[in-house]
Amino acid sequence: MAKRRPVIAGNWKMFKTVSQAEDYALKFLDEVRNVTELDIVLCAPFTALYALKNELEESIVHLGAQNMAWADQGAYTGEISAEMLLDVACTYVILGHSERREMFGETDPDIAKKVKKALAAGLTPILCCGENLNLREEGKAVQWVQGQVSRALAGISAEKLERIIVAYEPIWAIGTGKTASSKDAQEMCAAIRVTLTELMGQDVEKVPILYGGSVKPDNIAELMAEPDIDGALVGGASLDPLNFADLIKNAG
Ligand code: PGA
Repeated sequence: MAKRRPVIAGNWKMFKTVSQAEDYALKFLDEVRNVTELDIVLCAPFTALYALKNELEESIVHLGAQNMAWADQGAYTGEISAEMLLDVACTYVILGHSERREMFGETDPDIAKKVKKALAAGLTPILCCGENLNLREEGKAVQWVQGQVSRALAGISAEKLERIIVAYEPIWAIGTGKTASSKDAQEMCAAIRVTLTELMGQDVEKVPILYGGSVKPDNIAELMAEPDIDGALVGGASLDPLNFADLIKNAG
């Protein structure tokens, strides 16, 4: 069975000005030049994307955004469209991050529309899902996350679904220093794979499932050793180029 190609994506969140992003790109590229065994994605703030397009052109590092609109264009003040992301060489977009769901009121139907739009535009969505601590303690984590994934992906053809990435990010592990144990993360990623198989009505061997939540250079190898964890979505530990490069080297 062909193992899926691993993906390590950095999520800078609301950090870095244009000059900080350019400085990062120079240092980072120097470190990861020889990495060939996995795909590297930097998901930067909108304002830094154009500068990064120029810095990363013809490099092995792919560019991603952290959100986008479900509409094509029009009177949507404050929004950014798929076409605008393609224009600055983005090939990936994070959708449904828990911070967007919790703080900006994004719902499953919003996220479903965004996933469809991203796929239609040719972007690779990194669909985030994950439970909060209450749900975990009540033993409802699997059911919750499977529900989030089904609602975000309902009605999408199997052929299109093959082009997505899912990131399992338990909310209680994001930015807290508390990582899910590799056993718990594996259990959840395997459950997500079951849901994907049901949705696609066929084998989903091609869809990478990432883990996110306090991933660091010293815990990535253990997580990646699990059969259903194909990479990571990394917040805090992606902010320093040398630290993120170390994490990537330890993942390979
Ligand atoms: P963290 O964030 O690595 O800082 O926990 C992960 C994420 O929110 O994507």
